[in-house]
Amino acid sequence: MQHAVLSPDALGPTVCVGEILVEIVATSIGEGFRTAQPLVGPYPSGAPAIFIDQCGRLGARAAMIGAVGDDDFGPLNLERLRADGVDISAIAIDGTLPTGSAFVRYRADGNRDFVYNIATSAAARFGWSEAVEALVQQAGHLHVMGTALSMPSAREVIERALPIIRQRGGTLSVDPNLRKELRLDAAVERQFAELVAGADLLLPSGDELERAAGVTGEAAALRRLFERGVKEIVLKRGAAGASCFGQDGSRIDAAAFVVDELDPTGAGDCFGGAYVACRRLGLGRETALTYAAAAGARNVTIRGPMEGAGTRAELDAFIATTPRR
Ligand code: ATP
Ligand code: MG
Repeated sequence: MQHAVLSPDALGPTVCVGEILVEIVATSIGEGFRTAQPLVGPYPSGAPAIFIDQCGRLGARAAMIGAVGDDDFGPLNLERLRADGVDISAIAIDGTLPTGSAFVRYRADGNRDFVYNIATSAAARFGWSEAVEALVQQAGHLHVMGTALSMPSAREVIERALPIIRQRGGTLSVDPNLRKELRLDAAVERQFAELVAGADLLLPSGDELERAAGVTGEAAALRRLFERGVKEIVLKRGAAGASCFGQDGSRIDAAAFVVDELDPTGAGDCFGGAYVACRRLGLGRETALTYAAAAGARNVTIRGPMEGAGTRAELDAFIATTPRR
């Protein structure tokens, strides 16, 4: 028997803290937004929200901490999360600022241009409240998305929530989700490093592994992170699949599913949400990795960042009918 890396679902919901956004997507390939163009959306979005939505859709207990504005984009998000089984009791509705937003357009080379409104939107305007306290007191797991650390509100909530959740026997997962160009100030960098070192499960993609470890080379980065106390690392490799590494030196590779990529945004978040949900529901690494790879792959076939998040039945059907590399 492997010792369980994550706490069981029965301990309480997985809680994710951070930005809740709408996403508006350009339907043509090109560079940015300096000319009028066809757009589609709004879609519910925000990396932490996509992650927790996928958790909920898989039937795991899930809850979100964040804020939306008192506008149409707010209920668009709230209703989706609620419908997918996410506890929204700790999502604040800000009376002043609009719901956060992201406009995204894909370039021919696959890169993306963004226009964001997060820092000066409702997305960043939440904090420790009675509702947050009540949720955290019965939470079983905390998932931290690196993108959320750019918001002081999220940093404060994470700092207060983690010891309470730990005290209850809860666990921590971290998706660094930090573009390497992103520079954090020293205090944020310190909090990020502490969260990484304290993570039971780390879910980096590409060069985030090396950034999180502070060394180059996959093997060296894994070694360094395990030395710091991380228990399990799942490395996302985009269309090349994913690998799960254990502290004991074990390794499982998951071949990617063969799909037509229509909209890559949200793949990593769905992957993470599915992996954490499956592990907390008691599934083994290999099965969890299959569901996670399926969740990521399925999501890229559908336009909109969380539109492709799958239920257990949808993922089972996807796995049964989709070839793998
Ligand atoms: P994001 O852009 O959401 O931050 P990420 O960089 O964190 O994504 P990716 O590695 O792009 O994460 O995707 C997560 C997982 O989803 C991959 O490990 C893979 O299993 C699956 N996946 C993503 N893109 C594809 C694809 N084009 N084909 C098949 N599987 C994919
Ligand atoms: Mg990512």
